[in-house]
Amino acid sequence: MRKSLVFAVAWILLGVSAVAQEKQPIVILISLDGFRYDYVERFQPENITKLIQQGTAAQSLIPSFPSKTFPNHYTIATGMKPEHHGVVDNNFYNPTKDQQYSISNRAIVTDGSWYGGTPLWVLAEQHDKKSASYFFVGSEADIQGVSPSYYFDYDGSVPNLTRIAQVFEWLQLPDDERPQMITMYFSDMDDTGHLYGPHNDEQLKKTLTRLDAELGALFEGVKSFDLPISIVLVSDHGMAEVAQEKLLNLEPLVEGIAARVVNSGALVHLHLKDGVDKEETIRLIESRGEHIHVINVEDREYYQDLSLHQDLMGDLLIIPDLGYYLTDSRGLFRYQNKGAMAKTGNFGEHGYSPDYPEMHGIFYAWGPRIKQGFTIDSFENIHIYPLICELLGLPVPSDIDGRVEVLQAVID
Ligand SMILES: [Zn+2]
Repeated sequence: MRKSLVFAVAWILLGVSAVAQEKQPIVILISLDGFRYDYVERFQPENITKLIQQGTAAQSLIPSFPSKTFPNHYTIATGMKPEHHGVVDNNFYNPTKDQQYSISNRAIVTDGSWYGGTPLWVLAEQHDKKSASYFFVGSEADIQGVSPSYYFDYDGSVPNLTRIAQVFEWLQLPDDERPQMITMYFSDMDDTGHLYGPHNDEQLKKTLTRLDAELGALFEGVKSFDLPISIVLVSDHGMAEVAQEKLLNLEPLVEGIAARVVNSGALVHLHLKDGVDKEETIRLIESRGEHIHVINVEDREYYQDLSLHQDLMGDLLIIPDLGYYLTDSRGLFRYQNKGAMAKTGNFGEHGYSPDYPEMHGIFYAWGPRIKQGFTIDSFENIHIYPLICELLGLPVPSDIDGRVEVLQAVID
């Protein structure tokens, strides 16, 4: 009798632990906007450094062109280059819709028809896994008719600790309600980098120290759950210094040219009206200014595949040299009179070619299947998607640009 009771208890315990082992994997994808590849080495933030020591770090994360926030977040989310997922810049014109995508236009940002590919949260939901987002580019739009099970409309004023507390609440949900694919977003380093430039150690360290303490609370909290959680910590791009005297006025460069002009600062799209000669226009603009060059989109120097979304890129691109930035008269006034920029004379910008190391971001990963104390070479941000698919046990869509092999070595 007693023997069978012991047997029964052992059986139950074994059963419980077997159930615990079957807990579904969870990935928390965290984006630290504008976190340049060299910030950890320069500022030694305590908690991020600890996470790296217990996990894997890349030398740097190579963004896709243009190294702007929206195209790159959406590339990380879909494993596709901007020229394939269709968010080709922070601002761009769609001739078919006769509308301009702009990151500050809420109606457009939340309209799923602008977004191609299958973001990680959509893929998860399509395979009966719940997803949640405390902000990520594309998460507020219904893409392929799917939204995350839990998400918030973007509001940059929500304190970081509120976002983190919400993730703990999600993790406490019962198994069938708990999200497995969670995205988070923090803008702090981008804000400070833009205001003071990437060489203002005092300001950057101040912001990073606070952010690192908040992330430390997240990392510690995550470890207290008896759940197989992985953390993938990334950024969308780096930051280059722009001195105030290196601001260029776009208006005299394009004056009198029959074109729709869409300016993103580190690149300008020109949609020429019918009959305007491309080569002549290139020569004209280049003769009007220094520190810029103008290229025919069809030369495929920046966007390399034009087969899907050439209409969104325009006919010509004006590209300033690294450290120069195109704005208009209003912009010049704003930069010269706004806060820290006006005081220090230097600020930060991005959007330039990913070939510049200054544009590189970060990739750090930690979790039960991630190698410890491991370093990998710089790699392109399209390859994060298949790694997360692998961690969650999701099939990798065949139309993505990322390849599973690139980050295979990261997994134990
Ligand atoms: Zn950004």
